[in-house]
Amino acid sequence: MPKSPLPQDCAGCVYFRSGNKTCHRHAPGTTGEEFQPTEWPLVRRTDRCGEGAAVGDGTGEQPVTCGNCLHWWRPDDKPPSPAYGQGKPADWWTDSGFCTRFAPGPTGSEDREVYWRVTHAGDCCGDGEDVSPPDDASVIPAAEKVLIPQN
Ligand code: SF4
Repeated sequence: MPKSPLPQDCAGCVYFRSGNKTCHRHAPGTTGEEFQPTEWPLVRRTDRCGEGAAVGDGTGEQPVTCGNCLHWWRPDDKPPSPAYGQGKPADWWTDSGFCTRFAPGPTGSEDREVYWRVTHAGDCCGDGEDVSPPDDASVIPAAEKVLIPQN
């Protein structure tokens, strides 16, 4: 995929979701809390950074949808199942999985456990690797994301 030029601002970036004004450039890192849903960083349309990609003709950089991503992991093909909803409804958890894109970084504590954060199948980011077949009808266009039905 060809590298895209930088956008003028977040509003012109392929990783900006205009509906909730969130940046999806990077995958979530690990956390010290089990079953932690990913919250995407809120930015303003007029913000900018050095890692964006300008919206173009569709041939440049694009976010990858979690449900189609190599790094989205559902152990035994089952979604994460916390005892409590962690602020998310039950149907969100039904379509959720762990984002395992990044290894945990070193910590300052020898007995600190880490966990991979949870994303929804319809989330997306710029660090993913798309493994969906090119002609798969379930592939979601890179515009605003919608929920992917899971079997
Ligand atoms: S697209 Fe892949 S790397 Fe990005 S948040 Fe989703 S599972 Fe993680």
